[in-house]
Amino acid sequence: MLLQSHTLPPINITKLNHPLTDNLYLARLDLLPYPAGGNKWFKLKYNLLEAERLGIKQIITFGGAYSNHLYATAEAADYWGFKSIGIVRGEEHFSLNDTLQHCVNKSMQLFYMSREEYRRKSEPEFIQRWMYEQGIPNGYMIPEGGSNTLAVKGMQELIDLLPSDTDIIATACGTGATMAGLIAGAKTHQEVWGFPGLKGADFLVNDIQSLLSECHNVSDKKWRLLLDYHLGGYAKLPDELLSFIHRFKKEQGITLDPTYTSKLLFGLFDLADKNLLPKDKKIVALHTGGLQAWGGLPEKKRIFLSE
Ligand SMILES: *Cc1c(COP(=O)(O)O)cnc(C)c1O
Repeated sequence: MLLQSHTLPPINITKLNHPLTDNLYLARLDLLPYPAGGNKWFKLKYNLLEAERLGIKQIITFGGAYSNHLYATAEAADYWGFKSIGIVRGEEHFSLNDTLQHCVNKSMQLFYMSREEYRRKSEPEFIQRWMYEQGIPNGYMIPEGGSNTLAVKGMQELIDLLPSDTDIIATACGTGATMAGLIAGAKTHQEVWGFPGLKGADFLVNDIQSLLSECHNVSDKKWRLLLDYHLGGYAKLPDELLSFIHRFKKEQGITLDPTYTSKLLFGLFDLADKNLLPKDKKIVALHTGGLQAWGGLPEKKRIFLSE
């Protein structure tokens, strides 16, 4: 079927301009023409194939009201012929924000879960009962962020779509599943650098290790997390980061998202400014997309998008 035989076009690799380094590149996953661009397609692919293999027509997943994952799941599910249900953290608001409106436009059915209940979303029995009470029929469950071992498997395939002389692959991290997939797929000469957008994200070391527990030959892979570029943490957009995003747009002609790739590049450019990037290694950073998140920000912060 369509999904099974789906192949990706070549990924655009753009050289970034920086006065002190000439080996920094950006892999433009944000430009991929399939639904749910960025890293989310890689994470969803084997989940959707598994649902199909099991003959399940309905995808159920979780996310916050501004979640890139909900947005991507609604889009991909609709495109590949699945029904979808999104369980949204927190109360229902009178009018839908841009993210949730898009989900509804893609035929995702939304249900709202209180923050207290949402903390128990990984307990299967609790969720089964909650869904039963809400009248939600069973379906194929994808965890929050789409992060499971099938996501890791899909993400792994990206490695072969990057230039083979890449030495360092750099990515933003949320749950760490993208990073885990890159580690699993990395060739022996490659290392993976992760830049968490969350403050105090040391726990990701464990999360990444457990996502990798079903993968073979990962113990000798080289990877590191750079924990100092969260810029205040998740869903914060300090002026320092906003002006970096403006400058990046002006100098490189590329729009970054406010949550993930902007922090990754802020970090890499900071290291480059300080002459801390290795000169003899080709670094490929991933633009993982997520531009939809601008829709959730106050008008004054997204002004530059229309420039
Ligand atoms: C979801 C997302 C990430 C983080 O992916 P994880 O696998 O959760 O670490 C990075 N960038 C963008 C744009 C995303 O939407």
